Amino acid sequence: MHETSIALSLLNSLSELAEKERAKEVTKVRVRIGKLSGIVVDSFVFAFNALKPDYPKLGRAELLVEEVPSRYRCLDCGNEFEVETIYFPECTRCRSVNLKLISGEELEVVDVEIEV
Ligand SMILES: [Zn+2]
Repeated sequence: MHETSIALSLLNSLSELAEKERAKEVTKVRVRIGKLSGIVVDSFVFAFNALKPDYPKLGRAELLVEEVPSRYRCLDCGNEFEVETIYFPECTRCRSVNLKLISGEELEVVDVEIEV
């Protein structure tokens, strides 16, 4: 499953971070997930929580997910807007479909709390 491998790579990088920072444990991690990333948030959180006991410093890490809506800029009128749908968005001002995706595909770590 897609979400499991993403959760694993997050756990691995958190584990490396904990080693590097000589942390006793990671207590909290906040991530942003774009609505267009294709990641099912519930499955991702489930996988993270199921796998974290395998990592000595991550057993109590709390995962907080912030979902980021898709955001486009209209190349015709410069309007920026957010959309809920992923299908054929059009500019909310001039109805152009000449759009550039600004955000919505990301998976990024916002911050990590560790105990040293
Ligand atoms: Zn427009």
